[in-house]
Amino acid sequence: MSRIPLLAANWKMHKTVAEARAFAAGFLPQVAGLAGVEIVLAPPATALQALGEALAGSAVALSAQNVNAEASGAFTGEVAAAMLADVGCRYAIVGHSERRTLYGERDTDVAAKARALLATGLRPIVCLGETLEEREADRTLSVCEAQLDGSLAGLEAGHAEDLVVAYEPVWAIGTGRTATPETAQEVHGFIRRFLGQRFGSAGDSIRVLYGGSMKPDNAADLLAQPDIDGGLVGGASLEPESFAMVCRSAAKA
Ligand code: PEP
Repeated sequence: MSRIPLLAANWKMHKTVAEARAFAAGFLPQVAGLAGVEIVLAPPATALQALGEALAGSAVALSAQNVNAEASGAFTGEVAAAMLADVGCRYAIVGHSERRTLYGERDTDVAAKARALLATGLRPIVCLGETLEEREADRTLSVCEAQLDGSLAGLEAGHAEDLVVAYEPVWAIGTGRTATPETAQEVHGFIRRFLGQRFGSAGDSIRVLYGGSMKPDNAADLLAQPDIDGGLVGGASLEPESFAMVCRSAAKA
């Protein structure tokens, strides 16, 4: 099955409202008319509304970087899925390794967030990946399998079309150290098989993104791998030119 490549920019805690608007003004002309790729921008929560307005009328979609699994209530500092939909989000990243390691997010939390998003009509980008220590102990596939199993708990085949998975080896995030295309493909192939076992043929529609120091000079080789269906891009997504170059590589792949 052919899956439309998805390129998602994770800006993390970068960019004010003015900077997000300036990015859109520089970026949109560079990707206007780019066929065969879906593009998503995930700014900090404070810039969601303004960036959503700047993207209106374009094919570029808006994503949050996190969500709370509850619908409303006494959860100071948190944002619910319906609130993200309200400002124009189509996607939300859940289970990013920074949230897992810095804020103690567990697989059960990630799964609850993914279910809340799907119930609200939003698409979760579920992140997972092994640490360097786990890789060196030859535990990459078992760690990824456990994270997939836990983070997708309660999701059904009917959700598959709206689900995105991002494999992000922790040792490659923000380090400049990218997985080789072959190393990434090995894990992506494993994830693809897992999704087939879990969701049957519906699992074929789930895009599996690679994340970890993807940039203009390595994107084409990564995206040429049969089971890499796009990228989750941090550092190289902060400048319109470099992220547009990555998006163009995906359109060609
Ligand atoms: C990320 O934050 O998801 C990421 C992949 O970051 P970077 O591209 O900077 O490694």
